[in-house]
Amino acid sequence: MKQVYLTIDDAVSENFTFKTDILKKHHIPVIFFCRGDRLDAGEDRITNAAKAVSDGFVLGNHLYSHTRVTTLDFDTVKEELLKTERLLDRVYKKAGVERKHKFMRFPYIDRGCGAFPADKSKMSERHIREMGEAMGLIQITSPLPEADEKLIAHKNKIQELLKAEGFTNPDFGKVTYSWFKDTEFYTGCDVNFTMATGDSNLLPKYRHKGVTMDDLFRDLEKNFARDPNSAEVVVMHDYDQEGMPQVFETIIEHLVKQVQFIGATN
Ligand SMILES: [Zn+2]
Repeated sequence: MKQVYLTIDDAVSENFTFKTDILKKHHIPVIFFCRGDRLDAGEDRITNAAKAVSDGFVLGNHLYSHTRVTTLDFDTVKEELLKTERLLDRVYKKAGVERKHKFMRFPYIDRGCGAFPADKSKMSERHIREMGEAMGLIQITSPLPEADEKLIAHKNKIQELLKAEGFTNPDFGKVTYSWFKDTEFYTGCDVNFTMATGDSNLLPKYRHKGVTMDDLFRDLEKNFARDPNSAEVVVMHDYDQEGMPQVFETIIEHLVKQVQFIGATN
């Protein structure tokens, strides 16, 4: 059975607890990546986040304003990171739980180096192709320029900051894709993923495209089939737009029937 590490971005929404209740019902371990601005939207968000931590979920950093890092200067990235850290520390303190690991994921997997999320000069042709294909499957459409020396330096400086601040990757030891585990997608200090659920295609603003839940399920099958022996790091979202909590529930109820959810062991 396919093994899945589940990660959920853009927490903490208004109906966050609706989702954690579903996840708890199925005993699904999750790392949530939280937007600072959402944690900052009222004390109830901190309370709900603390409840999730008490229930065993792990919360990580998704920066403050959900802006593409390629478009921000270094000082702003640092400010966004640390401001969100202070909120996460408050959440863990409120929960009375020790924060054992610091994890972070960049909004849009924009790691600061433009359209392609890694330094191609450090990668084999095969890894570039396979990472590109995975990005294609998860339909990342980037309005960003290709990396140049300046952007690569920007990305590297941010990685140094993450390292200095103690950010690491969870132990995704059961993933075997070389393009993932042997590249900065995993050896870096930020958390990436091997596939998406495609839930963003069902957002109200994209509904005119006519993508259906069946299309999503077909894409999931296709992704799972790449290598049945590798675990997947799957991303979905804590969306609160009209209809999206139901989309969340439908995807989870579909997945529990076909995968085994596993937690990172560290
Ligand atoms: Zn996001």
